[in-house]
Amino acid sequence: MIKFDCHVHTVASGHAFGTIEEIAGYCRRKGLEGFVLTDHGPAIPGSANDLYFSAIKLVPRELDGVQLLRGVEANIMDYNGSLDLPDRALRQLDVVIASFHDVIIESSTIENHTKALLSLAHNPLVDILGHTGRGPYRFDIPTVLQACKDTGTLVEVNQWTLKGDPNNQACMEIAKACKALQVPIVINSDAHTADAVGRVDLSLELLQSIDFPEDLIMNRTAKVFKTHIKQKKPWLDFEI
Ligand SMILES: [Zn+2]
Ligand SMILES: [Zn+2]
Repeated sequence: MIKFDCHVHTVASGHAFGTIEEIAGYCRRKGLEGFVLTDHGPAIPGSANDLYFSAIKLVPRELDGVQLLRGVEANIMDYNGSLDLPDRALRQLDVVIASFHDVIIESSTIENHTKALLSLAHNPLVDILGHTGRGPYRFDIPTVLQACKDTGTLVEVNQWTLKGDPNNQACMEIAKACKALQVPIVINSDAHTADAVGRVDLSLELLQSIDFPEDLIMNRTAKVFKTHIKQKKPWLDFEI
C-alpha cells in the first residue's frame, strides 16, 4: 500500500476528468494521505499552459486534511533532456516528473534514450523519471539507475503502463535492477479519473513477485516522500 500518490492528472490536462476537489475526496475515502498534482506540461495538445504553472502556487497544500503538492509531468523534448517548461517555472514546483510521450518525441536509439535520461537524472530540478518501462524508449538500465541512486532522482513504477500491458517485461527488468542496485522508487497511479487515485494493485503485484524491499518505496507515506524531496530541493517551503 502507498499513502501518497505522486502522479495524478486533473481536467487541466485536457484528456483527464477529475477536479482537485474530487481527487481529494477520493483520497479521504480511500485512506490516502494525499497526492501530487501532476498535469501534463504545455507541449501535450490541449494541456495546461505556462500561465497555469505559474498560477499553481494559488492551490493550497492541504484540502480538509488531504495533503497536496504542486507539480508537473513535464515532456522530454529532445535527447539532450530538454523539458517543456523553463527552469524558472520548474524551480517553483514541488515535484517534477520527466516522461517520454510518443505524441511529443519519436523513439530513437538506446544511446539517445540513455543520454536524455542521464541528463534528467542529473538535473537538480527533476525528481522522478516517469513510466520508464513504457513504449519503445529502451535505455541502458544499470547506467541510468546508478545516476538516479547518486542524485536521489526517483524511478517510477506506473500503474497506467501496467494496465495497458500487464506483462510489460521492461517494467519488471527495471524493478529488478532497482532492487539489485538499491535505487529508491515511487509507485504511482498516473490517474486520469478521480477514482483511480491511489490504485496501484498491478504495480504492487509486480513488486511483491520479486520481494521488493519496502524501505526503497519513497511514497509509502507522505512524510517519507516529502522528506526526500526537501533533501533534494531545500529551497522548497512546504511543511513535512
Ligand atoms: Zn505520462
Ligand atoms: Zn501521467
